[in-house]
Amino acid sequence: MKTLKVSVVTPDGPVYDSEVEMVSTKTVGGEIGILPGHIPTVAPLQITAIRLKKENDTDYVAVSGGIMEVRPDQVTILAAAAETAEDIDVERALRAKERAERRLQQIKQENFDIKRAELALQRAINRLKVARAKGK
Ligand code: ATP
Repeated sequence: MKTLKVSVVTPDGPVYDSEVEMVSTKTVGGEIGILPGHIPTVAPLQITAIRLKKENDTDYVAVSGGIMEVRPDQVTILAAAAETAEDIDVERALRAKERAERRLQQIKQENFDIKRAELALQRAINRLKVARAKGK
């Protein structure tokens, strides 16, 4: 079985290096599957998983976007951050998820409060105009 050499590299150093049979991931343009002999390509990646199929196993790497360079015998992924499934701290990711959800909820509440304040301002200005029309 032919294989591809895959390297995932971040500014902190290499995260993953292995020979694999197939690479599957999501570029900004959509899903892509890469087998040995693929035509040379460069594609920006989404925040996504990289699935690396080996003979008897499948590895997974999370990437925070990045660029993928494909050559017939090699795939290189440059990402700002990347972690293998084994290296992911699940508790930390859950805390980050809850923090982000709370922040989004706060922003929604703030937008709702701004809308209420705008309407209250319009009502007050309208009453002042009506009162002034009668010389008050
Ligand atoms: P957090 O809020 O938990 O820091 P983040 O999305 O802001 O998450 P990044 O800025 O993407 O984090 O990453 C900073 C560094 O921390 C990178 O080296 C990344 O690989 C690592 N990292 C982030 N989250 C995790 C995690 N859940 N498990 C392992 N490493 C992580």
